[in-house]
Amino acid sequence: MRVVETIAGLRAEIAGWRRENPGGTVGFVPTMGYLHEGHASLIRRSAKENGLTVVSVFVNPLQFGPNEDFDRYPRDPERDRRVSEAAGAGLLFMPSVAEMYPRPTATRVVISGLTDRLCGASRPGHFDGVGTVVSKLLHIVMPDSAYFGLKDAQQVAVIERMVEDLNFPVRIVPCETVREPDGLAMSSRNVYLNPEERRQAVILYETLKLAEDKFAEPGMTPARLKAAMHEHIRRAPLAETDYAEVLTWPDLEPPADIPFDQMPPGSRFIAVLAVKFGRTRLIDNRLLARRSPAGKE
Ligand code: AMP
Repeated sequence: MRVVETIAGLRAEIAGWRRENPGGTVGFVPTMGYLHEGHASLIRRSAKENGLTVVSVFVNPLQFGPNEDFDRYPRDPERDRRVSEAAGAGLLFMPSVAEMYPRPTATRVVISGLTDRLCGASRPGHFDGVGTVVSKLLHIVMPDSAYFGLKDAQQVAVIERMVEDLNFPVRIVPCETVREPDGLAMSSRNVYLNPEERRQAVILYETLKLAEDKFAEPGMTPARLKAAMHEHIRRAPLAETDYAEVLTWPDLEPPADIPFDQMPPGSRFIAVLAVKFGRTRLIDNRLLARRSPAGKE
């Protein structure tokens, strides 16, 4: 695996690989580093499906608000190298902020509508930063496929929409969430949790399991399901709910408040959570699909 810090260097490496491997495909996994098994699963998937996998590690200042954790975001470049290489990456791109933003960017990619709710509402400007940096990275790497985790489901929806709207020639591949043994979604931010917060953080997973069970109950409505999620999170005394909602997937619209079993078969929903423990904000979600009656669909 080669580590590259400049845009020109990365482009030269990829162009060289493409020359030597006619018809070979390039997969890309963008990350903010402090890599864990969730990231590794994306890298392994890309390595399985492509001849060359490019991983980027870049903590993008543009997607952090003024009072967020940009400065204290965990960093460990040595570990990132080890994890990337072991998972099958061929190139690791680790640019500095000055390399990515030699001067303040005058151009932003703004994805509207989908970003009005959830993390877009709680973190103003966050998705403009994500859209802008992912656009830059896709233009730098020009991969055939790019791999994103469904743990950040709104991000997947936003990126898919951006790629469709702006005709990026790339396939976006959503990947399953990797979890700790107790169900907590793996996240670089989990290291911020103290032992008691870590113990209580399983409430996110438990609330999503509860949402899945309740969703299947006859007559269950979106409003009752949302209320049950809020109530369940209150069982963890250190948890402070930022949002807990059920929305349509992938449009992220509030569903009509009629029972789920009266909605068209094949309708898809997502239960989404953001919960704070002290200064640490954790997110998770679960896709909910109405089972079609046997023999139909
Ligand atoms: P991040 O470094 O947090 O920006 O994440 C980089 C990529 O890894 C994003 O596409 C995330 O959705 C994905 N990712 C993060 N955590 C997980 C996880 N637990 N399981 C699967 N993918 C993940």
